[in-house]
Amino acid sequence: IVDPSDPGQEEDTAIEAALRPKRLADFPGQSKVRDQLGLVLEAARRRSAPPDHVLLSGPPGLGKTTLAMIVGAELGQPVRVTSGPAIQHAGDLAAILSSLAEGEVLFLDEIHRMSRAAEEMLYLAMEDFRVDVIVGKGPGATAIPLELAPFTVVGATTRAGLLPAPLRDRFGFTGHLDYYEVSDLETILRRSAGLLQVSADPAGIAEIAGRSRGTPRIANRLLRRVRDWAQVHGHGAVDEQAAHDALALFDVDEAGLDRLDRSVLDALCRRFGGGPVGLSTLAVAVGEETDTVETVAEPYLVRTGYLARTPRGRVATRLAWEHLGLRAPEGAQP
Ligand code: ADP
Repeated sequence: IVDPSDPGQEEDTAIEAALRPKRLADFPGQSKVRDQLGLVLEAARRRSAPPDHVLLSGPPGLGKTTLAMIVGAELGQPVRVTSGPAIQHAGDLAAILSSLAEGEVLFLDEIHRMSRAAEEMLYLAMEDFRVDVIVGKGPGATAIPLELAPFTVVGATTRAGLLPAPLRDRFGFTGHLDYYEVSDLETILRRSAGLLQVSADPAGIAEIAGRSRGTPRIANRLLRRVRDWAQVHGHGAVDEQAAHDALALFDVDEAGLDRLDRSVLDALCRRFGGGPVGLSTLAVAVGEETDTVETVAEPYLVRTGYLARTPRGRVATRLAWEHLGLRAPEGAQP
């Protein structure tokens, strides 16, 4: 789960794992999804049977992987982790599925990026706990059915819309994760500061939470940068001054927009006169993959009212023009 818009991801992975809440009760925010998932898991526990398969969708860094691990912990089952891009052949998937023990959880990240053949095998396996292994080639090839122990798939995707309907329908529970409230991010940051053993005052925490794009992964990363700043230039504590100066250094602006967000708005306004412009043209203009612009930058810009999607393309709102310090043209979207 690499967020392509962010450099320096690798150092993050180990720390991220350490900062993950382990149980549902320790997971702040997303109260709807948390309550729904809690019910599904509790009912399964009482029936002593695996729960329905779970699909989690939403932008990167909101806690899909964390929740998948929590599903395993709450069920008292190990979690096997793989991802769509890692399964290119149906055979890779057959090998994983046939090695799962009864009740185990299979976490499939980026499930929308599996090959078509693997997808078909997966939805049959999810429904009937069976895979057909093809032996031989050409006219002599035969399908040998292989029984599987019942298991639970937790799928994660940034693009639920890309999943073919037959696969989507096999998930009995779908949870959509949305950007976090600032107060939830504050809770997360206080907990993380404790785990990282840095002292942080409420003003410092508030400053970081308000500028984390509603995303725990970003909040935790900014916390570490503010801690760095505090240790080098400050008094070692995360306070408002440290937060303010460190966030400026790392190109997070007052509204919490990062470099990618701003370059999307900048291209939209300065190069395309505010749009409408197609997504792929916009992506080329900022030198990013279409997927990155669409799943990382755009949802947040739409959510916060800087960018609008129209049938003719992406359009900058009045807020976007003003944010860049430009005059909005007549008739700009409010
Ligand atoms: P995703 O799989 O959606 O990209 P992750 O589950 O990997 O996101 O979360 C990214 C980071 O954010 C993890 O380090 C995790 O500690 C943190 N995180 C995500 N959601 C929460 C939450 N609700 N509470 C605390 N930390 C969270």
